[in-house]
Amino acid sequence: MSAAVSLRDVRKSYGPLEVLKGVSFDVAPGEVVAVIGASGSGKSTALRCINGLESIQGGAIEVCGHHVGTERSEAQLRALRQDVGIVFQSYNLFPHLTVEQNVTLALRRVKRMAGKAAIEIAGAVLAQVGLAEKAQAYPEQLSGGQQQRVAIARSLAMQPKVMLFDEVTSALDPHLTGEVLRVMEALARDGMTMITVTHEMGFARRVADRTIFMRAGLVWEVGGAEMFRAPRTPELQQFLGSEL
Ligand code: ADP
Ligand code: MG
Repeated sequence: MSAAVSLRDVRKSYGPLEVLKGVSFDVAPGEVVAVIGASGSGKSTALRCINGLESIQGGAIEVCGHHVGTERSEAQLRALRQDVGIVFQSYNLFPHLTVEQNVTLALRRVKRMAGKAAIEIAGAVLAQVGLAEKAQAYPEQLSGGQQQRVAIARSLAMQPKVMLFDEVTSALDPHLTGEVLRVMEALARDGMTMITVTHEMGFARRVADRTIFMRAGLVWEVGGAEMFRAPRTPELQQFLGSEL
C-alpha cells in the first residue's frame, strides 16, 4: 500500500534560516508516528508543512494522494486540508460558543452541512472523546484537558484521514495529560493515521509504531520502541537523558 504521508527531502527556510534541511520519512496508513526532539529542531515546522500551513523551498510532500511541492495552488491546499486534521497545544475554542457549536462550526461553514447533520456528527465525535454530556457547556466550564478533547473532537468532525498533534498536552497538568493521551491512544487503536509531536516519552514508546528523533532540522534517528532502550546515536542518548 502506498504511504499516507510521504516527505521527500523537504527543505524549509525562514529567510536565511534553514529550519528543515532535507527531511524525508513515510507514514503508512493506520500508522502512529511520534516525533521527538529538542525545542527548535523543526518538529512543529514539519507538521505545519504537512498540512500546507507553510510553503516549502525544496523537496515534495504527498499526503493522501495530494501532492505538495514548492509550487502549490489554493485549490490544492484546500483539498489537502480536508484530509488532514491538526491539533495544537493551545486549543483555541471560541469562548462564546458551546462545545457543540465549536465542533459544528467548520462543518457548517466549510462543509456547508445542515444543522441537524452537523449536530449528529458532533454527538458522535464528542462521545468518541468522552464528552457527550458536555455538548451544551461553554469552554470556560471545562478543564484544560476537556477543552483539548473538544479541540480533538472538532478536528475529528471533519473526518480527516490523517491527524497531526503538536504537543497537545504540554500546557496541561499531569492528571489532565493522561485523559488526553487516552483519547489519542483510542484513536490510534481505531486505526487513525497519526503523527504526534510529543514530550511524552512513555506515550511514544507505548503507542507509537515508530518514533522519529529530529535534530537541527534533520531526521536524526528513526526506530520502534527499542530505540528508547538502545539509541544508536549519542545525540539521541543525550536527548533521552535530558527528558528523564
Ligand atoms: P520545534 O517545534 O522542534 O521546537 P520549530 O519547528 O517550532 O521547532 O522551529 C524550528 C526553528 O524555526 C526554530 O529555530 C524557530 O525559531 C524557527 N521558526 C519557527 N517558526 C518561525 C517563523 N515563523 N519565522 C522565523 N523562524 C521560525
Ligand atoms: Mg514545536
